Amino acid sequence: MAAISTYRPAAKPRLKPSSSVVSRRPPPCALALRSSLLGSRIPVNLSAAWTRLNGPPGRVRVGWRPVVASQHSFDVVIVGAGIIGLTIARQLLLESDLSVAVVDKAVPCSGATGAGQGYIWMASKTPGSDIWELALRSHQLWESLAENLHNQGLNPQEVLGWKKTGSLLFGKTVEESALLERRVEQLSEAGVEAKFLSSHELLSEEPALFVDKESGAALLPNDCQLDAHRTVAYIEEGNRQFVSQGRYAEFYHDPVISLLRSGKNGEVEAVLTSKSTFYCKKAVVVAAGCWTGSLMRELDIGVHVPIKPRKGHLLVLENFDQIRLNHGLMEVGYVSHQQIKQHSAAGLCNDEEMLSISMTATTDTMGNLVLGSSRQFVGFSTEADASIIDSIWKRVQEFFPKLREMNLVEIGKDRKVRIGLRPYMPDGKPVIGTVPGLSNVFLASGHEGSGLSLALGTAEMVADMVMGNQGKVDFAPFAVEGRVADG
Ligand SMILES: Cc1cc2nc3c(=O)[nH]c(=O)nc-3n(C[C@H](O)[C@H](O)[C@H](O)COP(=O)(O)OP(=O)(O)OC[C@H]3O[C@@H](n4cnc5c(N)ncnc54)[C@H](O)[C@@H]3O)c2cc1C
Repeated sequence: MAAISTYRPAAKPRLKPSSSVVSRRPPPCALALRSSLLGSRIPVNLSAAWTRLNGPPGRVRVGWRPVVASQHSFDVVIVGAGIIGLTIARQLLLESDLSVAVVDKAVPCSGATGAGQGYIWMASKTPGSDIWELALRSHQLWESLAENLHNQGLNPQEVLGWKKTGSLLFGKTVEESALLERRVEQLSEAGVEAKFLSSHELLSEEPALFVDKESGAALLPNDCQLDAHRTVAYIEEGNRQFVSQGRYAEFYHDPVISLLRSGKNGEVEAVLTSKSTFYCKKAVVVAAGCWTGSLMRELDIGVHVPIKPRKGHLLVLENFDQIRLNHGLMEVGYVSHQQIKQHSAAGLCNDEEMLSISMTATTDTMGNLVLGSSRQFVGFSTEADASIIDSIWKRVQEFFPKLREMNLVEIGKDRKVRIGLRPYMPDGKPVIGTVPGLSNVFLASGHEGSGLSLALGTAEMVADMVMGNQGKVDFAPFAVEGRVADG
């Protein structure tokens, strides 16, 4: 089996926080009188160390190990700098006068966001489902963003990797084609432009695709795609415009390890990281993707969020000119979650590790052919699995005759693998809302395979919740209450 080169995003330069946002609050020793420390990993004698040193925030010595400690104060502290955390920050910065900090254990795009294929699609959403209105709103917001860039004389294709390709959801059998025909009717009734394509029409839209007489497709001409890395870079740059006003700061490579809760009213007052204490005057937003469940457990606040990682591989053939695709493609099996059992070298895996591989393919703005994708529950590992890459390749070869003539090994250095952990919620929709019993802590996670497409709608929803505004989309289907367990 051929070796795999793994796509690793370059680390971004760390931005120093603006001095104007550094807290003038008393050090933790004073605060400890009215606060209880939740979580177990922060050294409890940190307060004592502050008392002993009796100096301004800086380097504090606890035992023989130096601990960098600093304090900052913001209206809102966001945990997680994936597409969800960064777009929430953007929304708050644009729509309020609140100050915002984003804290991440690594860097943006190190999570699921950096692996995403970038489909901003309605084709895969079902009218009338809980997620429908949010998806529709989010789609509109992405389209407006691209349009605004265009109106400012910028090229959305360059800035966001934006392409209005339209989406093609296609099937190979009579049953799948009938299902797609019904979906087109449903989408059209819901006001989304959609057209059913017969096999003949499908072939003229997408000549590289293997099509036989039973094939059919749903074409949604207004579906789009973006490049997650470019989009994140654009959002970060926009957020940083607020640094000089003292309204924004980023803290990367700094994992959140605990929360400080007020002894008076139980509200969370601060987020503790490995290096700093972030006081939050208004809200904490946890947008930690697939780590949200484990993080909430570590924070020990009595709420079990059942989000878990669903690993995905994508195969990227760089500067690939053997086939050019006119649309974003997806086999309809991706949507109906057809699952096959994974056969590992050790034999059959258990149900939890079920692997599903469905064909997705698109040409991105750089001319790369992006092929996918796998879905499996195998914990938090992001190691590349060569057998999965082989399976993706075999699957796409079924759909593109030209690729059957090619050997993946020969493509060699021009192929990359992208791996990410989708934040999976068992009931198939994100959790967005306050944590029961902690009115100033909000969750915004669990978007699984749609986090890019749902990001702007989610950001708007969270910002409205924090500011106490009525939502553009009903908050109720995403409420945390009833979807998390105590403990
Ligand atoms: C192969 C693949 C293809 C996909 N394709 C698409 C697509 O075409 N369209 C689409 O809409 N979606 C797609 N997705 C899904 C999408 O990428 C995710 O839903 C989305 O990126 C989730 O964003 P997030 O911000 O919630 O999580 P993430 O991007 O994972 O960000 C979470 C952040 O939290 C940080 N964090 C975690 N724990 C801590 C802590 N203790 N302290 C501080 N920070 C912490 C992490 O470092 C990370 O940066 C795809 C995903 C994969 C894997």
